[in-house]
Amino acid sequence: MKVLIVEDEQHLAEGLRFNLEAEGFEVEVAATGEEGLKAAEAGGIGVVVLDVMLPGINGFDVARRLRDAGNYVPILMLNARGRPEDVLEGFDAGADDYLPKPFELRIFLARLNGLLRRSEWSRTADKERVSDTVEVNGRTIDFANLELRQDDTVLPLTLMEIKLLRYLIEHEGTAVSRRTILEDVWGLQEDTDTRAIDNFIVRLRKYLEDEPNDPKIVRTVRGVGYKFTTD
Ligand code: CA
Repeated sequence: MKVLIVEDEQHLAEGLRFNLEAEGFEVEVAATGEEGLKAAEAGGIGVVVLDVMLPGINGFDVARRLRDAGNYVPILMLNARGRPEDVLEGFDAGADDYLPKPFELRIFLARLNGLLRRSEWSRTADKERVSDTVEVNGRTIDFANLELRQDDTVLPLTLMEIKLLRYLIEHEGTAVSRRTILEDVWGLQEDTDTRAIDNFIVRLRKYLEDEPNDPKIVRTVRGVGYKFTTD
C-alpha cells in the first residue's frame, strides 16, 4: 500500500514518512500541488495525505482536479485552519476526511487507517465477512475490522498493530526476538529502525494491559525479546 504525502513542510512530511514506513506503508512525498497531482495521476497510490496550503495550486484544487478527472483515491486532507468553512470546503473539494493541524501522530494514524478501512469496506461490501476475533483480558481484538473493543469503547488499530498482535498471539507462550519479529512481521525492511518495535509494544500494552507499566500479557523476556502470555 502506497501513501502519497503532498506537503511542503519538509519536517512534517519526513516525520510522517518515518512513521508510515514503520507501519509497513510505502511512501512518496510531493512538495507542491503540481507534483502531487502528477504523482496521484500516475496511479498506484492507495491513499493521499493532502495539505491545503501549498506553493502553486493548493490542496483544495488538487482534490477537485482529481475528482473531476474521475480519480477517487481516498484523500485525507490536512489544514492549519480548522474553521467550519475550511472543513466544508475540503469535503466539497473531494476530501474523504479532514484533520486540522497541529495533530497528534496517533490521531493521524487512526484517521488514515479508518479511511483505508472504510474504502476497503466499500470495495468488499458484497463479500461475506468472516468473523475473525480473539478475546484477550476482557478486550475483543477484531482482526478483520482493525479494532479493539472493550465494553462500549471501540479503538481503531493500525494495520501494523494488528499484524504484530496476531503474530504474538500465534506465538503465545514463546519468547520471540526483536530480530525475528522484524523479519516476520515487518518483512525485514533494512531501513526500519528496531526502536519502531519498542514503540509498538508500548502501544499494545496500553491496549491490553490493566497496568501497562507492569505488563502481564506482552512480557519482556530479558536478553531475548517479547512473549505473549495469558496465564
Ligand atoms: Ca503547507
